[in-house]
Amino acid sequence: MEIPGAHLAADLHFNDAAPVRLRMVAREPLNPPGAAVRGLFAALCATFAGQLSLARTIEIDGPELPLSAMGWLEELRRYLYAVRSYRDGRAVAAYGCFADRSAGPDPSHLDRDDSRTALLFLSGGIDSALSALLLDANGYQVVPVHVTGVNGDVAVSETEERAATRVAGELGLPLTVFDIVSEPPLAELAAGWTTVPPSFPSVNTVPHGRELLLLSAAAWWCESAGTAASVAFGVENSGWSDTFRLNGHSYPRSDTQSERGLTALQRLSSYCQPGMLTLVSPVAGLTEYRKFVDFSRWRPDLLNVCSFCFWGVCCGLCQKCSLYYVIGRSLGSLGPQYRNSPMKLPSEYLVDALRRPLDPRYRERQVALIDIDSAGLWRDGESSLRSLVRKVRPTLLHHRDAWRRDLLRARYNVSLPAKFALKRWG
Ligand SMILES: [Zn+2]
Repeated sequence: MEIPGAHLAADLHFNDAAPVRLRMVAREPLNPPGAAVRGLFAALCATFAGQLSLARTIEIDGPELPLSAMGWLEELRRYLYAVRSYRDGRAVAAYGCFADRSAGPDPSHLDRDDSRTALLFLSGGIDSALSALLLDANGYQVVPVHVTGVNGDVAVSETEERAATRVAGELGLPLTVFDIVSEPPLAELAAGWTTVPPSFPSVNTVPHGRELLLLSAAAWWCESAGTAASVAFGVENSGWSDTFRLNGHSYPRSDTQSERGLTALQRLSSYCQPGMLTLVSPVAGLTEYRKFVDFSRWRPDLLNVCSFCFWGVCCGLCQKCSLYYVIGRSLGSLGPQYRNSPMKLPSEYLVDALRRPLDPRYRERQVALIDIDSAGLWRDGESSLRSLVRKVRPTLLHHRDAWRRDLLRARYNVSLPAKFALKRWG
């Protein structure tokens, strides 16, 4: 497919498979991208698609990046390959060339300019919508940007674009949209290359490393506008600083949505477009619990507008829906209209939380469920979950207040300017 007008393009070849063509198209007129942006796009696309296929070699066909930038690109490639291998149950060693050079993030090297223009990647979910509120409250001029086609599922992509358009509209901000066009489609590539195919509700089609594609949009926008910007990702916090060990090396659990991943992206962009992009992640230091509590008290009207379901349908059963559902119920808030209740035929995420009452991975669900029980907020059809709660009630009740305090605490976040205030609502 030929695309008229200014766009970014990358042609990729992996493992003797059919070539992959990736394009990024701006819906609003932007200046044609210069060599720095075209080089960055080609390198980031090659790394992004390379990890989907676990390609043995990655050749970048585009303007060359500075040598110093290549070191950080290699760092990101290692993280992405490791996370993909780990989750697919493959041996990383088979894919070679992993040398652990990383000393972890060093905030003193982040070269912060703290531009007051904040380009915010708005997916339409609570993370990015809350990021918009926090940036605005900290005096930034927020430019919401939405990139379609990065999550590998057409239906989810359409839901997210609708949600992002509505959230931007409610915030009174014009939305800038970029489209990622992939031949063959990313969903097809990811499905063909993973050993863990998508299956409802637990494994979705969202590929790792989407921030690589988003960064290209930010680089192009800044170059075209001739302005530096703070680039805000509303990334997940849950595995923000977590690492895992594989074959004797340590890797960030959440690839580019991690402290180390975002630090590497920051360094890479500093070498390609010096002083232009400062990456920030306003919500990365907050738990899902705190985000939901703050957001539902700050802008309850937006809860029904946001999209957060892994499947784009407010299913009520995926990890995200089931979490937000119980927190919402514990707060007595109406929240969005879910298609299913995770509390009736209890979702595995809730049952596991009660079977392992001292496991910190389930804190948010445990606090929400004991709050629901204590306030007598049970509904018809929830008796089997209620009896599970009753069995561990003494343990949950004993720890609840301390756990809640911990969930509401803001954690240190390497990608925020020192003066950024994580103002708390409610
Ligand atoms: Zn869902």
